[in-house]
Amino acid sequence: MKVTLLGTGTPLPSMQRFGTSTLIEAGGRRVLLDCGRGTVLRLSEIGIPIGSIDAVIFSHFHSDHYAGLPDLLMTGALPASWGGRQTQLRVSGPEGVRSVVEGLWTFTAADRKIRVADNEITEDCHQVAVTEFSEGVVFDECGLKITAIEVDHGEFVKPAFGFRVEFGGRVLVHSHDTRYSENLVRQAQGADVLIHEVAMARPETLERHSHTRTVLEHHITPREVGQVFDSVRPHLAILTHVVLMGPNPPLLEDMLAEMAETYRQPVMVAHDLMVIRLGKSISVCSAMVERG
Ligand SMILES: [Zn+2]
Ligand SMILES: [Zn+2]
Repeated sequence: MKVTLLGTGTPLPSMQRFGTSTLIEAGGRRVLLDCGRGTVLRLSEIGIPIGSIDAVIFSHFHSDHYAGLPDLLMTGALPASWGGRQTQLRVSGPEGVRSVVEGLWTFTAADRKIRVADNEITEDCHQVAVTEFSEGVVFDECGLKITAIEVDHGEFVKPAFGFRVEFGGRVLVHSHDTRYSENLVRQAQGADVLIHEVAMARPETLERHSHTRTVLEHHITPREVGQVFDSVRPHLAILTHVVLMGPNPPLLEDMLAEMAETYRQPVMVAHDLMVIRLGKSISVCSAMVERG
């Protein structure tokens, strides 16, 4: 199983960290977990045809996790070596995904009208086969099994999910956005690789800025994420979606120091285009970037 972190960022617009998206390649399948800002650009950077994605599975509907979907749908349909999808795209997610997809059909109509008239694409290329899911198995094909784990991303983001991804006896768990979640800790047991979000602000910022407090109430603290890693004991612990809230945001080092109070094992900080291979061994490298 090959896992490429296409986007490891947050809503903050950044050229270094695009919106959350993770490419899972296993058993001849290509599945995206989330499709945040810039997903299409990252796929193209590593030479993956945008139209070759079999399915997109969403964790929840904050913009940094699904803003890239219209681009994936429309650009992936173009008859080029980097596009090429000739049929509908499969999309699944929590309750609400159906109305996202309905809106997408309207959003893409203007492009479709031109390209169908020009015989570039058929209407089918913009169709989406949509499935709403609750906790449990959401993808099971060719030995690749993906299970949605309900997490706790705050009272107005219900339900929100992390995912357990299994192939060839190896297990990767990705928390997606969540506060400390007992359910995630329980269902992440046995994970070889655990990828988890984290967020932090300085105490004085929290005191003065109510918006910072609101944001942090949706996320996990460094101390708590250390507890999650300590309870699951993965072979490889990775932090992603690192929220360091300003003004005067804490440094990454401050966050790692607080986490070290509860977890003393090695931890990696994700970057865009980090590749994790899970087979007989587990390895991490950066994706080969294609020129162009
Ligand atoms: Zn997010
Ligand atoms: Zn979120």
